[in-house]
Amino acid sequence: MATKNAIEDVAHNEKSRLSGEMQSLGKICNIEHKMCSNSGESSNGGLDPEPPSIPKRRQELLKWNGWGYKDSKFFVNKDGHVEFTGERYRISGSTMPGLRDWMTKTIGISLDQKTPSQPEISAANIPLPVKNESFVADLRKTSISNSDDCQDRLFRAHGHTLHEIFLLREGKFDRIPDLVIWPASHDEVVKVVELACKHNVVVIPFGGGTSVSNALECPLEEKRMIVSLDTSQMNRILWVDEKNMTMRAECGIIGQDLERKLAERGLCTGHEPDSMEFSSLGGWVATRASGMKKNIYGNIEDLLVHVKMVTPRGVMEKNCQVPRMSCGPDIHHFILGSEGTLGVVTEVTLKVRPLPPCKKYGSIVFPDFECGVKCMREVAKQRCAPASIRLMDNEQFQFGHALKVESKSILTNFLDGLKKLYITKLKGFDPMKLAVATLLFEGTKEEVAAKEKRVYEIAAMFRGIPGGADNGERGYMLTFVIAYLRDIAFDYYVVAESFETSVPWDRCLDLCQNVKERLHRECKDNGIQFPPYITCRVTQTYDSGACVYFYFAFNYRGISNPVHLYEHIETCGREEILANGGSISHHHGVGKIRKQWLRKTIGDIGLGTLQAVKQYIDPNNIFGNNNLMIGQNFGGVVQQEAANVLLPSKL
Ligand SMILES: Cc1cc2nc3c(=O)[nH]c(=O)nc-3n(C[C@H](O)[C@H](O)[C@H](O)COP(=O)(O)OP(=O)(O)OC[C@H]3O[C@@H](n4cnc5c(N)ncnc54)[C@H](O)[C@@H]3O)c2cc1C
Repeated sequence: MATKNAIEDVAHNEKSRLSGEMQSLGKICNIEHKMCSNSGESSNGGLDPEPPSIPKRRQELLKWNGWGYKDSKFFVNKDGHVEFTGERYRISGSTMPGLRDWMTKTIGISLDQKTPSQPEISAANIPLPVKNESFVADLRKTSISNSDDCQDRLFRAHGHTLHEIFLLREGKFDRIPDLVIWPASHDEVVKVVELACKHNVVVIPFGGGTSVSNALECPLEEKRMIVSLDTSQMNRILWVDEKNMTMRAECGIIGQDLERKLAERGLCTGHEPDSMEFSSLGGWVATRASGMKKNIYGNIEDLLVHVKMVTPRGVMEKNCQVPRMSCGPDIHHFILGSEGTLGVVTEVTLKVRPLPPCKKYGSIVFPDFECGVKCMREVAKQRCAPASIRLMDNEQFQFGHALKVESKSILTNFLDGLKKLYITKLKGFDPMKLAVATLLFEGTKEEVAAKEKRVYEIAAMFRGIPGGADNGERGYMLTFVIAYLRDIAFDYYVVAESFETSVPWDRCLDLCQNVKERLHRECKDNGIQFPPYITCRVTQTYDSGACVYFYFAFNYRGISNPVHLYEHIETCGREEILANGGSISHHHGVGKIRKQWLRKTIGDIGLGTLQAVKQYIDPNNIFGNNNLMIGQNFGGVVQQEAANVLLPSKL
């Protein structure tokens, strides 16, 4: 009984956490909490009456031209302070007194120089659909839901790269999907793919639409009808098997729904990418996603036990669900990272774990970034990394500080002052150099206590001092709102984007420094008049290296082609990354924007092998989104997709 109560407490806390951090307040799950039986597979989800958090008509809840929920955004209020709207997040309804100054001083924003988004892209500016009449006629004989409404089509024409969101705000799309189809099951996907093959129609799978690689963009040159296969209505947990600690769900379930539903059973997958509010299970598999807590739970490839993919050749899957097999190259690895080029991932079995009974945040302040990286390397070496450990450089620390919400508590302000005094005066840390690591520990109380002790001991070896749980918690909470910041930046002539890489430990520091220097140099050489904002953090640690994540933004007043220039400089940044031993991507994938480096990355033979697989599975290029380098232009020169255009007034 005691154990059951403890599990229920943990489940309750987890539900509250997910709710508090990012859940629509009105939609907190109200299904009665039921513990699973231990009798092997137990069905549930199919009967689950709860609708998904994101409606089928996404535009009803989400912004059409920016990140996230319509009701949640940063804006400058009548007092001239930046405020965050809505009620969904902890910072909702709060002002951030330091942010306006940060925006003006660091990046040269002027509050009276605005570039508002166009109010909408009207039907007149949306391309007419290409129609394959016989396909449509055959589709209509089924009961599979579909729509050729302009806004439904537009919503599925893009992900969230700078290029795509800028187009929504200031341009128009020359090619978008011609029809949106919402299959409700694996069998309906099989039917759609059969029809697409029969009538030579292109299929682009759409999960949560959070892609940051232009993977969802329609190839401009594609003359065939393009169907966006939206998986959002395939959102059930099909079963949970507590004997083997696995669960199977349909591909369209999004992260927040999956974790919340599992939490009701005292379970979790632990896969938490920063986009988990909106990204889908199928999307994670298709992009080889990585979650912030991968140190305990693993990346998506470590969590994956079984996957079904519907291809033009038929359904690709293994015949058993075992922890490991020695049966030649693992076919899951053709599916993981296939980016919608080979088929539709329909059902996925992942490992699950009991919800950790104890979660604790923490932070460490280092005198500089180098000490921080050395500490992270040692933590990885000793294999004692907490669920998450992230190291911010000084620029990001300053920014985090600017994002602090107004506190009316004298005690909080007093304690903050004391901490600052201690760190800068007594410890002698230079506020313009220090770096901060945020930590999240998970496990039993004893495990957490033991790990905390070890991590803080290692930190001390590198002059790191504990910075408190509040700072750590705030850091993680901010990951869910940080994506909203780009929208306010757009409003004031700023273009911004993030990009990431993985790198061996011995090159990590050099890479961070050289990439920053290169970006600064390119900004200067390209006539950017205001100081750019360039910052990085080390977000994931491995035995042999780390993931590094950059933010890069600049104020483009006086520049006529900001997106083009941004892409040029980002390309230089990527060249620098590669020259410093980094990779083309750690988890964002290749899509279209990183295709140009794929051949160099995997070599001619590697690429030829991928192309041969594509040729076998999908000879007519039905999954013709042209991601990776395995579409129709086999071996051809890869051009950057010039898809879609800016309105003449904005050129
Ligand atoms: C703010 C923000 C934070 C992010 N943080 C992270 C992070 O922490 N970790 C991380 O790994 N990524 C992150 N990303 C990138 C993105 O969320 C991931 O790539 C995610 O896995 C995409 O999932 P999705 O469901 O949104 O897929 P979509 O964007 O809909 O699609 C991405 C690609 O996968 C294909 N696809 C989607 N579903 C299927 C399917 N069922 N079958 C076959 N192909 C499919 C699409 O055709 C497309 O090529 C972030 C993105 C943003 C904007």
